[in-house]
Amino acid sequence: MSAPVPAPASPPASRPVDPRQLSLLRFAETTGTLSGVWPAADLVRLGADAPPAGAAEVHWSAQGERRAVAGDSPQTWLHVQAHTEVEQVCQRCLGPMTLRLDAQRSFRFVRDEEEATRLDEESEDDVLALPKRGLLDLHELVEDELILALPIVPRHETCPQPLPLPANEPDEEEVAPPNPFQALAVLKRKPN
Ligand SMILES: [Zn+2]
Repeated sequence: MSAPVPAPASPPASRPVDPRQLSLLRFAETTGTLSGVWPAADLVRLGADAPPAGAAEVHWSAQGERRAVAGDSPQTWLHVQAHTEVEQVCQRCLGPMTLRLDAQRSFRFVRDEEEATRLDEESEDDVLALPKRGLLDLHELVEDELILALPIVPRHETCPQPLPLPANEPDEEEVAPPNPFQALAVLKRKPN
């Protein structure tokens, strides 16, 4: 009697990728894509400058790329997009405003900081050093990008109300007209 043939092992279920520990080289090699939604309240550093608008969420996505280069070893790229909504104070009317932040950037990753600094100066690319153990914290990177997307001086495109005028200011335009009798008195004093 032959032993029952074991069912072929099913391929190991691919582990869900942790965006806080993204294996960058593998992600690039497999042209990986990843996207998700986080509560904006989780982005504490962003929230310190720009609190989330209500129960705003951060929508984000990332794509890996292994870019072939003629005569050189292929490059490791990561493309990141994110958007969310934050509360700001308009610097013109001092009223509250809800602002949509959009971030989008492509990063090229190289071996170490030294090479990253050199290439960042030499080229137009945004160059970063590969993180330790090759694991990237995408949460942190997305938060950095949204912080960079904050306007230096937030302002409504059109303020909702006209600027308040100071109340009870005397109307300086209303100057008393010259008194004709005064002018006459001056004439009368003139000796003949
Ligand atoms: Zn305003």
